[in-house]
Amino acid sequence: MKILVYSAKDFEIPYLEKANRRKYHLTFTKEALSSKTAMNAIGFDAISIFSADEACFITIEKLKDFGVKYIALRSVGYDNVNLRAASRLAIRVANVPAYSPYSIAEHATSLLLALNRKLIESNHRVDHFNFKLNHLVGFDLNNKTVGIIGTGKIGAIMSKIMHGFGCTLLGYDINENNDLIDKYNLDYTALKNLCEQSDIISLHVPLNTETHQMINEELISVMKQGVILINTARGSVINTEDVIEGLKNGNIGALGIDVYENEKGIFFKDHSRHIPNDDLLIKLNAMPNVLITGHHAFLTEEALTNIAETTIYNFDCWNSGKETENELTKPMNTI
Ligand code: NAD
Repeated sequence: MKILVYSAKDFEIPYLEKANRRKYHLTFTKEALSSKTAMNAIGFDAISIFSADEACFITIEKLKDFGVKYIALRSVGYDNVNLRAASRLAIRVANVPAYSPYSIAEHATSLLLALNRKLIESNHRVDHFNFKLNHLVGFDLNNKTVGIIGTGKIGAIMSKIMHGFGCTLLGYDINENNDLIDKYNLDYTALKNLCEQSDIISLHVPLNTETHQMINEELISVMKQGVILINTARGSVINTEDVIEGLKNGNIGALGIDVYENEKGIFFKDHSRHIPNDDLLIKLNAMPNVLITGHHAFLTEEALTNIAETTIYNFDCWNSGKETENELTKPMNTI
């Protein structure tokens, strides 16, 4: 099987090569998949893509014409793939449903701690031998209320970590997890109530039609004054303009994000010489109480190993004519 790996980053190639054990012919390209770059897949049986790749209807149609049969996502989220089009055109798509929920939950916790204890500001001062402590006051996490929106694999680990800090947990999810109620006293409640009661809110829902811009002006207006909002899910789960307004009027005390709604084309690249023409990002970057990381919550050795192994496992299943349990879509034979 000949496989083209789109959006291949230098740091992940050794993990993919190791997991592949020379079984398949892997070709790596730094280019992201789009309707323009789909033609690079001519001559390949399969492709692998990441979250910044765009597998829209037109791109999927082109891939089909070029003979691509399989798409293996190296991510959990699959909001960037038109699964309906893939099903119709009998292109099989699989993801990596769980590579390390710890990597993401621990990163969300890092954002929270760095913001609350003002580590970035403190370190900037120390860089200039300024050891004054004014404006560096944070708060104890112990006894604070944390709202976890989305209590799936990552949200469950976030609950465990926050419980360890001595926090009271509120949860919002369309599917409740009794384990979290039993182990960590997590209390499921309505989204509005979670927003009203929480000192910290952490987002762990997938991006879909219901969660798109879920955090908007209406909900921000009922949040506790000075709430810390953490988003490691997907950028579009929050309405960035509304969140900026919330930060400006003090409703939101601090924002930590690993994902950003306009990140496609910006993240994963060096723009230091040509600052992106993106006013929202420029505004966020200018705020001292905003901490942004460039979609790297997944970047741990364990996660990269699991991503590579599951990606190759998905190809193994398809190559031997089997189904993979990670398949997101089944062929409908309606071409
Ligand atoms: P998961 O499927 O285990 O959990 C998602 C939870 O959200 C589920 O419990 C589900 O019931 C709930 N949910 C879905 N729609 C909802 C809605 N409308 N309202 C309330 N709850 C809803 O997924 P996970 O592994 O925990 O990952 C969550 C998300 O994190 C992924 O979809 C992905 O977008 C994001 N993620 C980000 C990174 C990163 O590097 N920043 C890495 C991995 C995953």
